This record gives sequence, C-alpha cells and structure tokens, in this order.
Amino acid sequence: MIDLHTHSLFSDGALIPSELVRRFEALRYTAVAITDHADSSNLDHLVPRMVQVAKDLNERQSVRVIPGIELTHVPPSLIGALVEKARALGAKLVVIHGETIVEPVAPGTNRAGLDASADIIAHPGLITPEEVRLAAKKGIFLEISGRKGHCFSNGHVARLAKEAGARLILDSDGHAPGDFMSEEFARKVVEGAGLAPDSLQALLSNSRLLLEQIGSSV
Ligand SMILES: [Zn+2]
Ligand SMILES: [Zn+2]
Repeated sequence: MIDLHTHSLFSDGALIPSELVRRFEALRYTAVAITDHADSSNLDHLVPRMVQVAKDLNERQSVRVIPGIELTHVPPSLIGALVEKARALGAKLVVIHGETIVEPVAPGTNRAGLDASADIIAHPGLITPEEVRLAAKKGIFLEISGRKGHCFSNGHVARLAKEAGARLILDSDGHAPGDFMSEEFARKVVEGAGLAPDSLQALLSNSRLLLEQIGSSV
C-alpha cells in the first residue's frame, strides 16, 4: 500500500513524523508522503524539516518517506508562486487542498493547481469536466479521498475521470492512526466511489507512477 497525503503534528495531525511513518511501516506500506497544510506563513518552516526527517528515516526504515506539502486555502492567484517555492525548498510532492464541498475553498483553486502543475489535486469536490480534461492532458492526479466529508464527491470525481481518461489516486488524508487505511478498507472506499471492485490495484499503480515521476520509486 502507498499513501501520498497525510498530516503530522506540524499541521493538524496527531503524530510526530517519525511515529506516523513507523505506524505506516507497521501496516506494511511501501511509501508514505507527509503533506502538512501550508501557506505563505509556514512553507519555509515546514519543507526543510520534512526533507530532514525523510532523509533520516529513509536511511533506516523500509517504508519510503516523501517530503511533501499541501497548499491549503491559498488564494488561487498565489498558488503558482507557492508551488514553485515549495519545490525550490525541496518538497518532492505538492498537493493542492482542492475544492471539497465541506469547506469554503476559494473557487478557482482546482484550476490554479492544475495550471501550476501541482502533483495531486486532493478532494477536488465538484470539479468541472473541463478541469478533469486538463488534468488528463497534463497527467495530474485527481484524488479519491478516504477522508470523511471530503469523500462525499468521490463518485463525481471517479465518473468524470473515467470519461476523460484522467489519473486517479487514492489517499487517506489521514490525521490520526485511526484514519490510516487497511487494504480491505481501501478496497471498500474505491468500490464506494463507483469504481470496479478490482480498481484498487490500478489506483496503486498510479501512486507508483507518481513516485517514479518524482524520482522516489518503490
Ligand atoms: Zn486537504
Ligand atoms: Zn489533507
């Protein structure tokens, strides 16, 4: 299993990165990205610390740790600059906190994330067919979310992605140990999104593809 969207106590998660990673290792995951919430206030604080802990743990543990970031409630016109800054600071994976229907995320956030060539548009809510086609064209991953609330629009995202040939990725968006998905639960989330019951393997292949793209294959 692979999870490319999780939160540590550096934002609003429950665990310090080392415990988060150890718990994923114990669940036999092969890779996990730590993607704490960021905007202009804390990007330069978070990224170097995640790069450091990822380096330390990758030298010593079996699960591959990816230092990432989730740009969250950033005004759309600022997203492009912060994606660039995150990468310059060393973030291997840039997730955009997309237009989930359970928060007042600014309209235009999904589009700005796509235009900025972020890696994953997380919980993109009622993303438009045009945006999904753009994701397909640019090879940007759209998220099927294991997170309560954010998951309400999984069916919509899955349907449009299938029509447009966009790549889907499954993440827990986990903030605490109870959120981290077993393979059995992941299968149910995928099937609950209206995808064929055996689609989990295809989604995991997409996670591996993204890891290859960012030079962190497992
Ligand atoms: Zn989010
Ligand atoms: Zn998140």
